[in-house]
Amino acid sequence: MTDRTRIFRQKTKRAGACLTCFMFSFFLSSCVPKVPVSDKSAKVEFFSMNTINTIEVRGPEAEEAANAGRDEVYRLERLLSRTDPGSEIFMVNAAEGEWTEVSEETFNLIRTAIRYCGETDGAFDLTVAPVMDLWGFTGGEHRVPDDAEILSVLDRIGYEHVLLDEAKSSVKLEIPGMSLDLGAVAKGYAGDCVIKIIQQFDVKSALINLGGNVTVFGSKPDGNGFRVAIKDPEDPEVYLGVLELKDTNIVTSGGYERFFESDGKVYIHIMDPETARPAQSDLLSVSVIDPDGTRCDILSTALFVMGKEEAIRYWEEHRDLGLVMATTDGEVLVSENLKDSFEVTGGKSVTYFG
Ligand code: AMP
Ligand code: MG
Repeated sequence: MTDRTRIFRQKTKRAGACLTCFMFSFFLSSCVPKVPVSDKSAKVEFFSMNTINTIEVRGPEAEEAANAGRDEVYRLERLLSRTDPGSEIFMVNAAEGEWTEVSEETFNLIRTAIRYCGETDGAFDLTVAPVMDLWGFTGGEHRVPDDAEILSVLDRIGYEHVLLDEAKSSVKLEIPGMSLDLGAVAKGYAGDCVIKIIQQFDVKSALINLGGNVTVFGSKPDGNGFRVAIKDPEDPEVYLGVLELKDTNIVTSGGYERFFESDGKVYIHIMDPETARPAQSDLLSVSVIDPDGTRCDILSTALFVMGKEEAIRYWEEHRDLGLVMATTDGEVLVSENLKDSFEVTGGKSVTYFG
């Protein structure tokens, strides 16, 4: 690891912690004076889906809700992980071209993911797993493959080769060596599921942070939305801005989240499925804001791969989405529907589009 990489990592880790404190301090400090004595709050912090997660809940059944939310994330990890031999995704990947019966839940998630693969013209592709393996992102032994290896892996990528049989709730990967990776959607989907679980309890509000994918339910005790900061990908100690959010999700994708360096070049973990190489994006990060966490997660990855112009074009056809994008030339682009909720806090110039 070079010095630059190490410093970047340290900064990124610190900034992650800052973001958490920032959000939670608002949550906790503001609830102290106004909450009735009978009201309670609870917080659980746990490791799952390869990341640190936090669930904070306020309300009479806060503790039960937070624990149930955590168990839900564990359940989804067991279902969707591609490295856990007990998971349904592992079973599909290991089936070597045979049909595999999966639960209705896994089937529906795969079907949703495939729909977005088509809608994003393959910028998001759930069959990217062999590319992640090739570049060493799966086991952690990063490497730069040669052109022949890249060419040969391309034959095994393509969402159109994932076959679905709804009547039998079954999935088949048509080409030998294909495999599914739900890494760009699982946490967003988990956010949606956790919210559903938490709402089964007597709770007033919740703030869920699954490795930076943030879901908010309800509002702060004073009725205002939760304030969630977006990191500057070039200086994780600075925030691009702060959003005030109620009953929605904010999911960010960026190359700075996971990468390695070799011979002075940086290789990021978000792949362009068309080239089987790290995406050459003119964006440093994309944050998507929407009540559907699954959609947020998929689109943050897809729009990052598409790059600035295509992402704006996509937004023009989906104007209900909120978007905040940091570009490689130092701009911050914010969709005009966020004008009232986005507060600029960093030093970068912000342009509203739409
Ligand atoms: P995210 O952090 O949500 O952008 O997801 C990144 C993760 O999704 C990577 O670590 C891979 O597991 C997977 N991934 C990378 N590139 C793509 C892509 N173009 N389409 C779908 N999944 C991807
Ligand atoms: Mg994603």
